[in-house]
Amino acid sequence: MVKYDYLIVGSGLFGAVFAHLARKAGKRCLVIDKRPHLGGNIYCEEQHGINVHKYGAHIFHTSNKEVWDFVNELVPFNRFTNCPVALYEGKLYNLPFNMNTFYQMWGVTTPAQAMARIEEQRVAVLDAMREQGITEPRNLEEQALCLVGRDIYEKLIKGYTEKQWGRPCTELPAFIIKRLPVRLVYDNNYFNDAYQGIPIGGYNKITEKLLEGIECRVNEDFFARREYWESLADKIVFTGKIDKYYGYCYGKLQYRTVSFVEEVHPVPNYQGSAVVNYTEREVPYTRIIEHKHFECFGDDVYANPVTVISKEYSTEWTEGSEPFYPVNDAANTALADRYRALAAQETRVIFGGRLAEYRYYDMAPVIERVLNHPEVKSW
Ligand SMILES: Cc1cc2nc3c(=O)[nH]c(=O)nc-3n(C[C@H](O)[C@H](O)[C@H](O)COP(=O)(O)OP(=O)(O)OC[C@H]3O[C@@H](n4cnc5c(N)ncnc54)[C@H](O)[C@@H]3O)c2cc1C
Repeated sequence: MVKYDYLIVGSGLFGAVFAHLARKAGKRCLVIDKRPHLGGNIYCEEQHGINVHKYGAHIFHTSNKEVWDFVNELVPFNRFTNCPVALYEGKLYNLPFNMNTFYQMWGVTTPAQAMARIEEQRVAVLDAMREQGITEPRNLEEQALCLVGRDIYEKLIKGYTEKQWGRPCTELPAFIIKRLPVRLVYDNNYFNDAYQGIPIGGYNKITEKLLEGIECRVNEDFFARREYWESLADKIVFTGKIDKYYGYCYGKLQYRTVSFVEEVHPVPNYQGSAVVNYTEREVPYTRIIEHKHFECFGDDVYANPVTVISKEYSTEWTEGSEPFYPVNDAANTALADRYRALAAQETRVIFGGRLAEYRYYDMAPVIERVLNHPEVKSW
């Protein structure tokens, strides 16, 4: 006998927000997740009094007031502002590229001087390309050089991007980098959004609030007992991999993944920032995250004598590792479209979230999608 209105496969933000709203609308929900914990990729593990972001640094940011109000009603947010720095050959540069970066790069102090430096380098690149008969950038390297010139590309983009994609920039398509915003103001705030922060007490607080009063089961893989799970509910909200849902009938979608190597250090402050990017190709990791800086500011950092860091290594996805980033090339996009066409024909299954839609979403857009979902609007 059908016991639930909705079986929700996956307790990440899409599944948890859906379940929360469904419960408020009086619907009966069961949430299952194959991982040993709830929350999907926003899950944090407490270590030495520090919330460690187990699936990579998560910084909430949005300009959507409805989404911001929605999450703040669950848990208040702190004032964390993402101001990452890049380390290249022992020298630190502020990100995103702004007047601080240009001062560190060239010693220039005015926007006009910075603009002149960038233009001078761009023109040199464009002239060299023209001499070789190249009219359009043929790869990511040429694209980046045309946008920001050689110094910024070589020190801050090249090595980092090659580590991220596991290939030389000359072999990556130009479209990966459409724009490289250059800020001619002294502003290290990475995001342009109106709101950003970290939930006070960590992301697990959000998951707990969202799933309050809802039946949840962890360590349960939908595919291990598919018929059984399907028999339990009228409708299914599926947030797992769409290609797997269809038995890989058209083939497997590709992903990039990141592996995290955690280290505990007996010092109160390891790098003085939540995020440091390592932009040299020779350093094998892309970033070091120091988790305490997401929730601890100023002298409070020193109240805890220990710190936890994660080194991030970007790698190709293989079966068994976490599928993180969809590969947005022509082949994978075409394949995903074929699966999406199958999904569009389903009347009993709702596909949502980053894996089921095969799209990279930040947290706020995922919430926005659930809030505006036709199923949710129909209640
Ligand atoms: C490394 C990294 C860093 C990020 N940083 C940021 C950031 O700074 N800011 C930001 O806004 N966003 C960030 N994001 C994006 C954010 O993680 C996503 O927007 C969010 O996790 C999407 O939620 P979701 O529910 O779609 O997916 P998920 O959180 O992945 O949830 C899907 C859930 O489904 C479960 N599942 C899958 N298959 C099955 C199955 N067969 N049976 C049962 N359960 C199943 C999984 O175990 C998982 O718990 C980052 C993402 C990554 C990968």
